[in-house]
Amino acid sequence: MTGKPGGGDSPVSGRRGEIDRATSLIESARNLVIFTGAGMSAESGIPTFRGEDGLWQGYRPEHLATPEAFERSPEVVRSWYRWRRDLIEKVQPHRGHQALASWCLHSGKKSCVITQNVDGLHQRSGCPDVVELHGSIRHDRCHRCGQRALDLDAVFCSCGGPLRPGVVWFGEPLPEAAVDRSLEQIDDCDVMVVIGTSAVVHPAAGMVFRALEIGASVIEVNPAPVLPAPVLHISGTAKEILPRIFSTGSVNGENPA
Ligand SMILES: [Zn+2]
Repeated sequence: MTGKPGGGDSPVSGRRGEIDRATSLIESARNLVIFTGAGMSAESGIPTFRGEDGLWQGYRPEHLATPEAFERSPEVVRSWYRWRRDLIEKVQPHRGHQALASWCLHSGKKSCVITQNVDGLHQRSGCPDVVELHGSIRHDRCHRCGQRALDLDAVFCSCGGPLRPGVVWFGEPLPEAAVDRSLEQIDDCDVMVVIGTSAVVHPAAGMVFRALEIGASVIEVNPAPVLPAPVLHISGTAKEILPRIFSTGSVNGENPA
């Protein structure tokens, strides 16, 4: 067996080189795009709804998060989303969200967060510019005309169509405006940071490759990074790594939170 260095080092110290490289790429960026997935929210305590833990009153998420399920049993689907919305309201953005939001607000650089999450935690942490690729659980929209509805107790739109959660379901296309805005941001970015998503399936994969194609530097923050070279890998979670790489100057990003 090869010897491991003795104890005493924090797990992060072994990644010092990668963290320093990421920090300097971010510091010298002109336009930064941050792409986030479920792993970003997990440490705030948002359930991932995978496996047995995902069951709700005997239903599987894949049997609830579809247009067919809504058309068949709108009240069941609406109450599952009410339950999820209540769970989300009880959790807080973690220090990774806060570090990122604070950087976006105070770095003076152009930046945009593109997220696959529907929970609104980036907005709650103060991120000024968030594109929600999969919609939002925080509002409803009309299943017929698409109009957004902020009154979550309403059941019907003024057009008479049924109101549904404002998220993208299995089998539905992504909202065109969000995709267009994402591509526009990516085409102009010079650094992309991918956080908490393996980004190996569409549309995340396409967006990462587009950034690589135009010559942007891509940084991946995941417990087990998977993107191909030349992506800079940092093994770790959002909560652990983001306060270190999105530092706005105070004490090397080691501020306690
Ligand atoms: Zn309508």
